[in-house]
Amino acid sequence: MRESDQVGAELAGALLTIDLRALQNNWRQLNELAGLAECAAAVKASCYGLGLEPVVAALSDAGCKTFFVALPQEGHDVRTVLPEANIYVLNGLMPGQAAFYHQHKLSPVLGTPTQVRGWQEYCLEQELKLPAALHIETGINRLGLTDKQTRELAGQREVLSAFKLSLIISHLACGEIPGDPMNGEQRDKFNQLRALLPDAPASLANSPGTFLGEGFNFDMVRPGIALYGGNPFGNRANPMSPVARLYAPLLQVREICVGESVGYAASWTAKRPSKIGIIGAGYGDGLPRALSSPAKDGPACVFVGGHYAPIIGRVSMDLITVDLTDVPQEFVREGQRVELMGDNVTVDDLARWSGTIPYEVLTGLGSRYARLYSPSDS
Ligand SMILES: *Cc1c(COP(=O)(O)O)cnc(C)c1O
Repeated sequence: MRESDQVGAELAGALLTIDLRALQNNWRQLNELAGLAECAAAVKASCYGLGLEPVVAALSDAGCKTFFVALPQEGHDVRTVLPEANIYVLNGLMPGQAAFYHQHKLSPVLGTPTQVRGWQEYCLEQELKLPAALHIETGINRLGLTDKQTRELAGQREVLSAFKLSLIISHLACGEIPGDPMNGEQRDKFNQLRALLPDAPASLANSPGTFLGEGFNFDMVRPGIALYGGNPFGNRANPMSPVARLYAPLLQVREICVGESVGYAASWTAKRPSKIGIIGAGYGDGLPRALSSPAKDGPACVFVGGHYAPIIGRVSMDLITVDLTDVPQEFVREGQRVELMGDNVTVDDLARWSGTIPYEVLTGLGSRYARLYSPSDS
């Protein structure tokens, strides 16, 4: 850590580190798994909260060429970093946006007949066949053309020939449950519908889908969470390496007596003489308030000097409190950094304890942390 980083981190209180080499290794692992298919990256919501600029640059250095964002503005931000990348905007084309897409070489993922017409008209007007993807809905019922709309569009070759159909996608609803019959049903429906359309590369798999095997890879896989170290599965060991680690300082230590309470609503009471640690991060930093005791499948813990210490009482805006009674005294030092997320307390642990998914934990990480990006391979 450089000295300026160190001071910056101290002024900010908590420290979020992002291991760009682990990110790149995760991409390489998924790329290997994808076989002949291209391995793209879902980088929406500022790369799931980890910070757009350094993360997309590191992914590009690892070999990633295609990026998926949700919004045109996010596409623009990726374009600023990567002049040559293929950038797809998942939320599609809203009226009046075509020129912005064109200007920044963004490809819309068209999901309604109106969007398709909008892109067709813009391309005709410009006398350019600009690339776009089509999103076909196969069961999740979010974005994409219905079965009927896809069949109608398939009959309108003059519409489809106005632009360059560079990709056809659909999205899995149950990929994280490998045995779920819906996966195969969606794959079959995707195959059926794309066969009606002009020949174009196809993509179905998100992170868990990338692990489903050959029939799901098509020409491109689009992992997101697995790149960032989250477990792509609901109920299996995590095959990915952690990328984000979160540390916060132990601000104070206090001894309390039996019967004394801790925190708002006095929701936790000491049953033995206890040593309590006050840590400088809270829900204002994106630590879910649902980590308050009693947490789901809890207790939720932090990791202090090789020991787990349970979170007690309520998570507040800037603080959490932990029970340090069982942590040996030599590890309890005012000012020392405690691991809130990392190798010992994983992002998946935090998600489980707070009744959510790692996606929400990562995208919820606040902007108050000092952020430190470890060097990547370039
Ligand atoms: C977010 C997203 C992905 C990536 O999903 P993960 O589960 O994070 O791998 C892929 N495709 C679409 C359409 C998405 O919205």
